Amino acid sequence: MSLVFNDPCLEETASATPYKLASRTHQLENTIIHIKGQRIGGSALAVIAGPCSIESKTQIDEIAAFIASQGAKFLRGGAFKPRTSPYDFQGLGERGLDYMQQAAERYGLVTVSEIMDSADVPMLSDHVDILQVGARNMQNYSLLKAVGQIKKPVLLKRGFSATYTDVLLSAEYILQAGNADVILCERGIRTFETYTRNTLDLAAIPVFQSLSHLPVLVDPSHGTGRRELVTTMSLAAVAAGASGLMIEVHPEPNQSISDAKQTLSFEMFEQLMKRLSSI
Ligand code: PEP
Ligand code: MN
Repeated sequence: MSLVFNDPCLEETASATPYKLASRTHQLENTIIHIKGQRIGGSALAVIAGPCSIESKTQIDEIAAFIASQGAKFLRGGAFKPRTSPYDFQGLGERGLDYMQQAAERYGLVTVSEIMDSADVPMLSDHVDILQVGARNMQNYSLLKAVGQIKKPVLLKRGFSATYTDVLLSAEYILQAGNADVILCERGIRTFETYTRNTLDLAAIPVFQSLSHLPVLVDPSHGTGRRELVTTMSLAAVAAGASGLMIEVHPEPNQSISDAKQTLSFEMFEQLMKRLSSI
């Protein structure tokens, strides 16, 4: 009996899912998140773009101006970076968020930045419009409960080895704590393949959409780790029904302090936006 319930394949076909509030059975219509005049969810395509890390006031200002000129409405930038090595750049912290907030106000953009510690929830909420819970913290349950208590949307990224059920149960923590504005983000999982940084699982889009009413975004930057794959996988994600994309972009991508290999140049981003508008 216990074997049956531990089998994730069988679990999905069971009439009762382990998550409730996140499920399509609980809510039939798609959740549409409204934030500062923008929408995430349903058929509108949300493009979240910006550097991996906020590096300086001029860097984030230049990127914000550029992505706004290309029609993107959401600005990303990490200020608290979850780096695999403690010797790598950890982000500018609150100072970086100030820079991003100023740039976003200047160009009318909605901001997204990662939260790593529940103690930072009030400070991040003061500076950022959408709080991101990164792949490494997808199962940090105290953080999920903390962001469940705020009145801002939460972008929840899939963990490296999280099943669909794991992701939806993490979303459930946030919903259950009282925050209905949860966005799911497929960002690749760890497999035996080493050519790409992660294996971008595009099947996650229709699966999440059938199991849940929450918006589904795709991050092909972290999902592939290679800038030459980002445009193709962005188009594929949109064709598969994604409600939006998260893209890393920098004026001098090779000089990015973090994630240089997967970061698009301005020219590449412009091309991507043109191809997106044509579909
Ligand atoms: C990021 O978006 O900056 C990031 C670190 O992503 P992930 O959590 O998907 O690795
Ligand atoms: Mn990055």
